Amino acid sequence: MIEVAADIAILGSGFAGSLTTLIVDRIGLTPVLIDRARHPRFAIGESSTPIANLVLDDLARRYDLPRLLPLTAYGSWHATYPSVVCGVKRGFSFFTHEAGQPFVPDAAHANELLVTANSDDEHSDTQWLRSDVDRFLVQEVERAGLRVLDETDITETDVRDSDGWILRGHRGATPVSITARFLIDATGEAGFLRRSLGLTDDVSSVRTRSRAVYSHFVGVEPWHDRLAALGGRVADHPFCCDDAAQHHVLDGAWLWILRFNNGVTSAGVVIDEGRHPDDPSVSPEREWHEWLDRYPSVASLFRHATVAQTPGALRRTGRLQRRVNTVVGRHWALLPHTAGFVDPLLSTGIAHTLCGIERLMRVVERCWEDESFPSELRRYEAAVLAELTLIDELVSGCYASFGRFRLLTAYSMLYFAAATSYEHQRLATHDEFHGLFLCADDGAFRQVVRDVRNQLTPLVDTHAPSPAQAADFERMVERSIAPFNLVGLCDASAGNMYRYTGAGRRRDGPRV
Ligand SMILES: Cc1cc2nc3c(=O)[nH]c(=O)nc-3n(C[C@H](O)[C@H](O)[C@H](O)COP(=O)(O)OP(=O)(O)OC[C@H]3O[C@@H](n4cnc5c(N)ncnc54)[C@H](O)[C@@H]3O)c2cc1C
Repeated sequence: MIEVAADIAILGSGFAGSLTTLIVDRIGLTPVLIDRARHPRFAIGESSTPIANLVLDDLARRYDLPRLLPLTAYGSWHATYPSVVCGVKRGFSFFTHEAGQPFVPDAAHANELLVTANSDDEHSDTQWLRSDVDRFLVQEVERAGLRVLDETDITETDVRDSDGWILRGHRGATPVSITARFLIDATGEAGFLRRSLGLTDDVSSVRTRSRAVYSHFVGVEPWHDRLAALGGRVADHPFCCDDAAQHHVLDGAWLWILRFNNGVTSAGVVIDEGRHPDDPSVSPEREWHEWLDRYPSVASLFRHATVAQTPGALRRTGRLQRRVNTVVGRHWALLPHTAGFVDPLLSTGIAHTLCGIERLMRVVERCWEDESFPSELRRYEAAVLAELTLIDELVSGCYASFGRFRLLTAYSMLYFAAATSYEHQRLATHDEFHGLFLCADDGAFRQVVRDVRNQLTPLVDTHAPSPAQAADFERMVERSIAPFNLVGLCDASAGNMYRYTGAGRRRDGPRV
């Protein structure tokens, strides 16, 4: 029998669960980390952003976790932990394709959009090979001498107001019994507490409707080279378009390509369910090849590619969106990716998760055993739900404008305005930063998003908006985001090639 007594049990040892465990220990409470799987294991959700790195940096400094600091930029990561595989991510790149035709480059880059997030490779964001990153972090938990129970199935839960939790299950053939006063659910899509407590599903409120077919591949050719061969003016690009969260926009879908520096590439097609409903009679392999067959320039990147040994096959999801409307209880809290998820389109997942960990850990640090604990947990809940709602508004508007690239480009500026405003505000705050992810607590910005979305709807309902209508929309977005446009977004003279938009990095730690 394995018996563990902890203050806080953390279920799920993805990067979020492990990081939370390390922080709980630094706060002075006793954690135990439980996962039903064993590392290394395949996981998806790989493309970080400047916000993710700012928050990770602050967490590492605030909670005295210096070994995590190198993970906040490509240069220091690669130099310090070369065996933990990652890739360079200089920003976002988008290319829109016509079905049945090769990509035809436009001299003015009208069918491309590049937004630079980092000044150079050394300071760039990263693509996280999650099997490596998650294993590294769980090893950090072990290194700190903290209890980790992997390959452990919790089959019974009992929660009492006075005592907290008793979790029972087994690790192989050995029975396990854990007592903990509080439970943090970091099981993500598996949603341990959603299932065991029967939390109410609120996915009907989410506008985005998408599903995905994805895997890891070897031998994916660089789009940069293909584009150059097609006559694209790649010299105009502010960074190599492969060192990016690369988006190929298709008809009612988009395809991501993320490159790691070990020759492995993550790729997946994310499909608008409304336009292309799931057909279970079609295998994931056939569906993947059908998408490639429609887009010859994208297909050419995969002509010699094979699925990587891990995960060894294509994976297909059901609807990606999830959301519950109760995120905390007296003795428990869900991390953001367990409370809900919208879509990979704008790489919001890792950053949102890190923002959630920061907020929840402050509550635990300040209010544990204080009468304000329940009300502070509710504030955490409100933050997570507001952030999910905003992400959905941003993403669903992008989906609505697929096939109308000028509208998509203009609408996506809402996201870049939110992300860069958040970065600037965070960096300008020398004390603790309390703002919500992507400025979700800024009423004026939320109104702008609603207004722009309202103007978008009739345009996307129109078969093909005229150039004049598209130009009006662009000007309206430019005017609307002006108070939040600190980095020269919506600049017609940039020709869809945005040079450095980042707010920079901290030179020292936050004052805490
Ligand atoms: C298709 C797709 C693409 C994505 N792309 C991006 C991207 O490019 N950028 C980005 O920022 N975000 C992306 N995301 C979001 C990203 O995946 C999440 O933000 C991230 O994985 C959250 O990490 P986590 O540790 O909270 O959860 P997870 O990574 O989901 O980890 C959950 C852990 O819980 C464990 N577990 C499950 N059930 C149990 C149980 N019953 N008991 C114990 N343990 C259990 C699992 O084994 C796993 O280790 C993507 C998501 C999807 C679905």
